[in-house]
Amino acid sequence: MNTALRERSPIEEALAAAESRFSAANPKSRARHERAAHVLPAGHSRQTLYFSPFPLTVERGQGCRITDIDGHEYLNLVGDYAAGLFGHQSEPLQRAALEAMRSGISLSGPNTREVEFAEYISRRIPSMEQLRFCNSGSEACLFATLLARHATRRSKILVFNGCYHGGFMIYGAADPGLSVPFQTIKSDYNDVAGTRAALRANATDIAAVLVEPVMGSGGAIVGSLEFLAMLREETQRLGIVLIFDEVMTSRMGPGGVQGIRGIRPDLTTLGKFWGGGFAFGAFGGAREFMRHLDVRSGGTLSQAGTFNNNVVTMSAGLVGARDVYSPEVCLKLNALGDSLREQLCEVGRALKAPFQATGLGGVMNTHWSSGAIVNPAQVAPAGAPVRRLFQLEMIERGFYVAQRGMINLSLPMLDTDLSGFVSAARDFLIRHADLLPRT
Ligand SMILES: *Cc1c(COP(=O)(O)O)cnc(C)c1O
Repeated sequence: MNTALRERSPIEEALAAAESRFSAANPKSRARHERAAHVLPAGHSRQTLYFSPFPLTVERGQGCRITDIDGHEYLNLVGDYAAGLFGHQSEPLQRAALEAMRSGISLSGPNTREVEFAEYISRRIPSMEQLRFCNSGSEACLFATLLARHATRRSKILVFNGCYHGGFMIYGAADPGLSVPFQTIKSDYNDVAGTRAALRANATDIAAVLVEPVMGSGGAIVGSLEFLAMLREETQRLGIVLIFDEVMTSRMGPGGVQGIRGIRPDLTTLGKFWGGGFAFGAFGGAREFMRHLDVRSGGTLSQAGTFNNNVVTMSAGLVGARDVYSPEVCLKLNALGDSLREQLCEVGRALKAPFQATGLGGVMNTHWSSGAIVNPAQVAPAGAPVRRLFQLEMIERGFYVAQRGMINLSLPMLDTDLSGFVSAARDFLIRHADLLPRT
């Protein structure tokens, strides 16, 4: 026996076995990944879709299920990292997109859909008195931050360790090289006293506080009411712009998490489901700030973007938000999510296993520990052996889940789909009881 094998812990042994079963079961995905790696660095186009040993290539989707090129069908619990709210084939969205295509694309002027869509968004999220469209949540966060810096004539931004504001603004332990080199002051999520002190100490330099009211990719961590209310109160007092990044969280309530919490930020960013399945971003807020974009009356910020008002997104987005994800449907889906999260937690409690789910409504994350999780420092990395083992074994059982443990519900899901997943998770906990981290 060689040294490498002897040094593997029991969970690493189980993982290695799961990886070889996965490789054997997915030869076509493996071959495609190898081919992809010649032309796409690491063989993919989007970091979050990659997992080891290789990601599955998905051929098609229907309802809440996807089929990979080796012919396996899965319940899609990844839900496109919260953007896949509508499932894979929503008829109203298909109709809206097709109608828009038929009436002509690249119209080169304002079209007959964007005003209606902007009005609708502003009605659902009243703090967005005015807004502008762009092409992604990442762009929205960048535009909002630059707008706040312009409006306040201050340069720094206060962000939270481990938060994610799109591809250009990732604030982990080390800021990756593709992040915009803003000067940041970092605080810990849900740390009321520490954040208050940091704001007061740096008030005259800080243009904006950028915060996800529920941290999404950091591990579905709920921002406490006390924490969010403190941010509103202090920023107001200190003349700092409060930006709620609701790119992900806006699906959690009819008016986003700001509606649930009753807190009115100065600026809000949106993305993901609002595009009805197509590329989308928007940022907006109080006229006092948005007026800087009105170059007719003294504003000096001209915001560009060829596809900002593309007809397909404008049409599908409006139909998706207004006719499909209406406030009633939104409340129902999020109640289903609350119930799934509670069932997963109950499985952990009943088995006295270090397993729980955190989050709000239809967006959640599983964790391999039992204590309360209030900031991302308490979250095991995506590459932790237990996360990888859980992912591969759930995939083996027909449940497509993300390596980092994130789960996002979509509208076609039924109670029975979710109870199947709860049983699979329970089986996993029983089967691997000896391998799991100790509580
Ligand atoms: C997804 C996400 C973004 C980025 O949106 P993209 O459309 O992927 O660019 C920004 N902020 C948060 C909180 C997100 O979850």
